Amino acid sequence: MFAVAIDGPAGAGKSSVAKAAAKELGFLYVDTGAIYRTIALYMLENGIAPTDPAAVEAALPQVKVGLAHTAEGQKMSLNGEDVTSRIRTEEVSAATSAVAAVPAVRAYLLGLQRDLARDNNVLMDGRDIGTVVLPDAQLKVFLTASPEERARRRTAQLAESGQPADYKQILEEIKARDHQDSTRAAAPLKPAPDSVLLDTSGLSFEGSVAALVGLVRERQ
Ligand code: C5P
Repeated sequence: MFAVAIDGPAGAGKSSVAKAAAKELGFLYVDTGAIYRTIALYMLENGIAPTDPAAVEAALPQVKVGLAHTAEGQKMSLNGEDVTSRIRTEEVSAATSAVAAVPAVRAYLLGLQRDLARDNNVLMDGRDIGTVVLPDAQLKVFLTASPEERARRRTAQLAESGQPADYKQILEEIKARDHQDSTRAAAPLKPAPDSVLLDTSGLSFEGSVAALVGLVRERQ
């Protein structure tokens, strides 16, 4: 099996670039952020504070996360209910960063992520894939872009889907999330020492996909 670990901060275009590259390569695209988001949604909907690690850990046995890879992409279910679109709100994004800082949550999801890479050629997208989840991945990419470029893209994306989008607020949220993800004790966001840096700030979407596909083909 061939595994590609893609890590990087929020909004760098990781998921759309990785998804398109996976399609071109015939690999399974795995969005691990969606799994953390599903756990966060459970906490929000059940009145459990995402910032209370003990309460989050105690609730984990009640959370059944399901993943299905369909022609339309990765579908997420929470205790049997499809939550694919409900995990994409800004409220869930903020709660996810808190929930993902809980070591028990990360441990709970480790096996699930590794099983996917054992059974498939994967392009797995997250924050700690190259450093923790798949340390033996054949290729590790740290995909990033400047915070301003990421905020601009996110604003455009939200506006397109009809959700309220304020550039300044989004930029602040991105910076806050970067800070939380890179300074947390459990699996902080950082490039694996043997990763390739792919900065997409000056690249078009197609250029980013081509760069990623090129890196995989070099090693296949
Ligand atoms: O990738 P996405 O923005 O959907 O991830 C949401 C949040 O989930 C991130 O901000 C991060 O806190 C967390 N996450 C993580 N480890 C991963 C994937 C996501 O901690 N592998």
